[in-house]
Amino acid sequence: MVQIKVVRPQPVDLETYKRRVFFTIKKYRLVEMGDVIYVAVSGGKDSCAALALLKEYVDTFKIDAEIRAFHINLGFKTSPKVEEVVKALAERLGVSLHVVNAKEYLDIEAAAKASGRPICSVCGAVKRYLMNKVPRELGATKVATGHHAHDLLAYYFKNLASRNFQWNFKIVPKVEGHDILLTKIRPLIFARPEENEEFCRALELPVSPLCCEYGLCNATHIEVYEMIWATRRRDPDFDLRLIGGIVAFNLKYGKDKLDQLRRCRVCGEPTSGEICAVCKLRMKLSTRLNTTPP
Ligand code: SF4
Ligand code: ZN
Repeated sequence: MVQIKVVRPQPVDLETYKRRVFFTIKKYRLVEMGDVIYVAVSGGKDSCAALALLKEYVDTFKIDAEIRAFHINLGFKTSPKVEEVVKALAERLGVSLHVVNAKEYLDIEAAAKASGRPICSVCGAVKRYLMNKVPRELGATKVATGHHAHDLLAYYFKNLASRNFQWNFKIVPKVEGHDILLTKIRPLIFARPEENEEFCRALELPVSPLCCEYGLCNATHIEVYEMIWATRRRDPDFDLRLIGGIVAFNLKYGKDKLDQLRRCRVCGEPTSGEICAVCKLRMKLSTRLNTTPP
């Protein structure tokens, strides 16, 4: 398991943090009248903070919108424990919770073995698939995630390094949906991981230390995290200026730059190709098991 060292170049000021998140929600119209927003809650500190802050925003400003929680039980050994934490969180915040079992769609561990793909890559594909499909079927108008500034900076630099330039246009607070693709919102896009952690600790919110026993969720981001921390030793707010610049650039020049998705030939969910990633994995798994795909 990879341990990520959290450095704190400056003390966390929770008032400033909360004001910044509320300002993001307001400025980019992440919450609108009549919204039914499902927050994808993994059990970790970031999605926990996203859920708590969206709920507080709606309650404080008396907005006619509903905040609900949504959790994917990944079907691993530690998943029941993580699910218990998410249940306790939803209860504590007074929000309704919908739990979906990933295994009903795909056995992630078996599919990783059958396809030879890393477990986190299969897990990511399943999470992206279910995060759009399930809330949409439950009547969501938007889906919210707990991605913070450093997650998105890591995504940005990884895409640059692998020359997937196009994907970087998705780094905005709100990715508008179309057809059966839900609008995605990121209320914590200008927040830092240590701020989310401190916020959850101060409110004593139930948080799971690990999303699963593999504990690799952030491992592929380590180089970029180290780069961010190094720059903040000299300039503590460099991270926020950098993500601010990327977002401003994308909002100005990124319109219509994203690929229009079509529907998967097998399941009908959005995909950039003919067949979506989850259906391809199901096919690989069923070929391996010599059975018919579900
Ligand atoms: Fe999924 Fe994260 Fe576990 Fe990898 S470490 S399998 S991405 S939950
Ligand atoms: Zn499909």
